[in-house]
Amino acid sequence: MTTLRLLLGDQLHDGHSWFADVDDRVVYVMMEMRQETDYVLHHAQKVIAVFAAMRAFADRLRARGHRVHYLRIGDRRNTQDLEGNLRALFAFHLARRFEYQAPDEWRLDDQLDRFARTLPIPVQRVDTEHFLCAREDAQTFFGEGRWLLERFYRWMRQRHRVLVDARGRPVGGRWNYDEENRSAWKGVPPEPPDARVRHDHTALWQEIRAAGVRTFGEPCAARLPWPRDRDEALADLRDFVANRLPFFGTFQDAMHGDATRLFHSLLSFALNVKLLSPREVIDAAVQAFADGRVGIAACEGFVRQILGWREYVRGYYWSVMPGYADRNAFGHATPLPAWFWTGDTRMQCLRSSLRQSLDHAHAHHIQRLMVIGNFALLAGIDPHALHQWYLGVYIDAFEWVELPNTLGLSQYADGGRLASKPYVSSSGYMHRMSDYCGRCAYDRRKHSTADACPFNALYWDFFARHRAALAANPRLRPTYRQLDHKQPDMPAIRARAADLVARLEDL
Ligand code: FAD
Repeated sequence: MTTLRLLLGDQLHDGHSWFADVDDRVVYVMMEMRQETDYVLHHAQKVIAVFAAMRAFADRLRARGHRVHYLRIGDRRNTQDLEGNLRALFAFHLARRFEYQAPDEWRLDDQLDRFARTLPIPVQRVDTEHFLCAREDAQTFFGEGRWLLERFYRWMRQRHRVLVDARGRPVGGRWNYDEENRSAWKGVPPEPPDARVRHDHTALWQEIRAAGVRTFGEPCAARLPWPRDRDEALADLRDFVANRLPFFGTFQDAMHGDATRLFHSLLSFALNVKLLSPREVIDAAVQAFADGRVGIAACEGFVRQILGWREYVRGYYWSVMPGYADRNAFGHATPLPAWFWTGDTRMQCLRSSLRQSLDHAHAHHIQRLMVIGNFALLAGIDPHALHQWYLGVYIDAFEWVELPNTLGLSQYADGGRLASKPYVSSSGYMHRMSDYCGRCAYDRRKHSTADACPFNALYWDFFARHRAALAANPRLRPTYRQLDHKQPDMPAIRARAADLVARLEDL
């Protein structure tokens, strides 16, 4: 009686109860597949990092005595799709039972669900034992009401007893220290050295290329810094807590052309492939606060990202799927400019953020939201094309977390169900939070001249274009009052915006 247990590439959780006992009747199957490399054009580092972590995970299981059947991307018997491989493996192992962990992406969940119904053997789907919430918890919490991160986050703090006292009140007296977390970074304190272990994945990269997988971005195959296994991910967590977490809150929204990482954790890849659990990451930050190694604002700011945002967007994803990827509330249809794939634009903020994304498969939250996403929304870029770009480019991009962030939070494509107002800004925000404007070919103070920062005209044009949809939003009343005062300048501003959109490729 052999049971086949499927492990997907983002299910590398070795604390899962599946692995508590070694059982010779169980075969774990893992597979590198074109189905998974090709559903969107991926950054090379993402394909390499996921396959490298999968291979290391398989070795780890074998070392603990488990049976593992691993299909490499170049294996002759690899059919390159989930169902073909599974059917062949069922026959090979004479499997009498099939078990799998619930996929985090609707696409795979649906595929496995439909596939399972065709099988003549018993099938069981189990939890990944990773997240702090079940898929439907956030939807149950909000019911018919409006989705608001802050409400959900406070509930999660109390439910999971994180930074609350015995009576459920917030430690430090406040739930949220966001207002203290908005400083620009001027070089002090210095960015700590990057202590991540780098791996030579040249051989793996050659296998990927030989299999015909198309990718983009810098592969960095000879010195890839993404963790391969849990031990490395834990070392990255310890290094972050010791050296960056103390400043995380203060500079959370800061951007700098020479300091790409600043005080961010870079733990999203390890979290999303489940090398780390959210609970242990939160506990490490809370322990550092309890020991007096970090202040409450830094600790709370970081905890909010994982206990709050990460669980919140996942709950949102499951409440809106399927069909969410087609949402386009503003009807935006402008194609993605070619420079999204090269970073070759004279706008320094975009040049810097895009190049960083293409070189490192990573950009931090404010670059994703307030530079790249901001520009795309103001310029009326097709949100679906943008979603595919984000899904492909970032090392941590899996649809359950990428899609709500891109379509909902960043592009307002769901008409404001996730974000209470569009996250857009003119050059003022960029200038306040970064050093980009000082190095830019465009002038941040100008609006409608040929050398004016494109964000300025596009910003006011956006609010003018979408007045019918947005003017009644109470959070946007001050913006519309300002726009009304600008009426004499608007013809020139709108002409400049139209010209910018027409010449998008040349910016
Ligand atoms: P840190 O700044 O150190 O934050 C710590 C952790 O908090 C992250 O590792 C992440 O797990 C979590 N977190 C923070 N913000 C969010 C958020 N908004 N949603 C979910 N988790 C969050 N994150 C992804 O993991 N995958 C994505 O594909 C992704 N796409 C995004 C697309 C857009 C348009 C935007 C605005 C944000 C996106 N994010 C995504 C959220 C966030 O930008 C990344 O989690 C973060 O930049 C990862 O880097 P880090 O580990 O250094 O994060």
